[in-house]
Amino acid sequence: MKPLKIDPERPFGTRECPACAMDVPENNNRCPICGYEFPNPTPRQKHMKLWGAILMLILFIFVMLRLF
Ligand SMILES: [Zn+2]
Repeated sequence: MKPLKIDPERPFGTRECPACAMDVPENNNRCPICGYEFPNPTPRQKHMKLWGAILMLILFIFVMLRLF
């Protein structure tokens, strides 16, 4: 069994820093070059899911009102 080694030359996921256009590893929340802080995408996704549920509820109420 070989230990899993992460190759720094080929990172698993990178995103481009909007400030200096440098490829920053996905798990790095701060750009090592210019210090730009990436916004955390996780709470936003949760927020989007919540808004989707609210939208569906409004649509459902709308349909029910049209039926009666
Ligand atoms: Zn940067």
